[in-house]
Amino acid sequence: MIFRPDNGITPLTDSFGRVHKNLRISVTDRCNIRCFYCMPESVEFLPHQEILTFEEISKIVRVVAAAGVDRIRITGGEPLVRSQIHRLIEMIREIDGIVDIAITTNAILLQDQAQQLKDAGLDRLNISLDTLDPKRFQQIARRKGLEKVLRGIDRAQEVGFKDIRINTVALAGITDSEIVPLAHFAREKNLTLRFIEFMPLDGDQAWEGDQVINGENIRRVIASQVGALLPNETAHRSQPSVDFHYADGRGIVGFINSVTSPFCAACDRLRITADGRLRNCLFGTEEWNLINPMRNGCSDQSLLESIRLGISKKKAGHGTDDVQFQRPHRAMYQIGG
Ligand code: SAM
Ligand code: SF4
Repeated sequence: MIFRPDNGITPLTDSFGRVHKNLRISVTDRCNIRCFYCMPESVEFLPHQEILTFEEISKIVRVVAAAGVDRIRITGGEPLVRSQIHRLIEMIREIDGIVDIAITTNAILLQDQAQQLKDAGLDRLNISLDTLDPKRFQQIARRKGLEKVLRGIDRAQEVGFKDIRINTVALAGITDSEIVPLAHFAREKNLTLRFIEFMPLDGDQAWEGDQVINGENIRRVIASQVGALLPNETAHRSQPSVDFHYADGRGIVGFINSVTSPFCAACDRLRITADGRLRNCLFGTEEWNLINPMRNGCSDQSLLESIRLGISKKKAGHGTDDVQFQRPHRAMYQIGG
């Protein structure tokens, strides 16, 4: 079947009219650190044979690209621990219709892989960094590694990655004092800083509402202690981050206030887990198995129908503020952040 996005294939629209253009692919549930807000300390990982191959991932991308998905994010677990991950980037780069390929990484292995990723055609990098203090890094990640992350950021800039974004999970009682230093660090290095509210997706299931630092409070701290902020009007509507630029023109800071101010109304995202399940929402409790049909030789058309079914069941919002809210049975590292 030959698909063309402009050739009569219905876009991936849910029952609320949201058109899905953004696919996040988890390539592994493994990781080289153990952030407490994501993974438990001791984990049983998926066996290798249950993980989507690069060919299977490429097939999914080709099928959804034909129906209008044009942006791909590779995530995990830690995507850079997946062997030859740059090969997957090369394969996706070849697919018609894909205009943007990004990776979210903890950057521990980035120093060694940045050039390969750039050469493979990766467009953008989001790097997770919650603290500039080595001890606090170890407290959060339960492993050492800050130096490697910082070297990875430098290397990524050296090989030519532009518009690198730093993702920072703000943790009450742990990283309150990191907000201002991180903002200065990002401005000095010409990095976009994004604060993410801590969501109830930790592997230990120990999340409490009072551990969340409200993004709006962070914005006030930065505006008063770092520099005046002006709203960024250019952002894409489906972008979860509310971005501001510094009035002096030196940098951008954004806020992903998923807990205090959900952005579900404009959500255009789909997710594929490392073991080949489609999820229509980070907080969803339902999944659609794509790996089994693919391994049984299903056609592109039937794969697309399974994906459409998952999208058709997407709810209006994630409902974390609802008393009926049920945590997904999988944690962030198993879903793909
Ligand atoms: N290992 C990579 C990394 O850390 O960048 C990619 C996967 S990680 C699950 C993706 C993003 O999710 C990271 O920026 C991480 O900080 C964020 N994250 C993980 N658990 C979270 C939680 N409970 N609440 C908010 N963000 C979380
Ligand atoms: Fe690993 Fe990323 Fe989860 Fe931290 S947030 S444990 S780096 S997958």
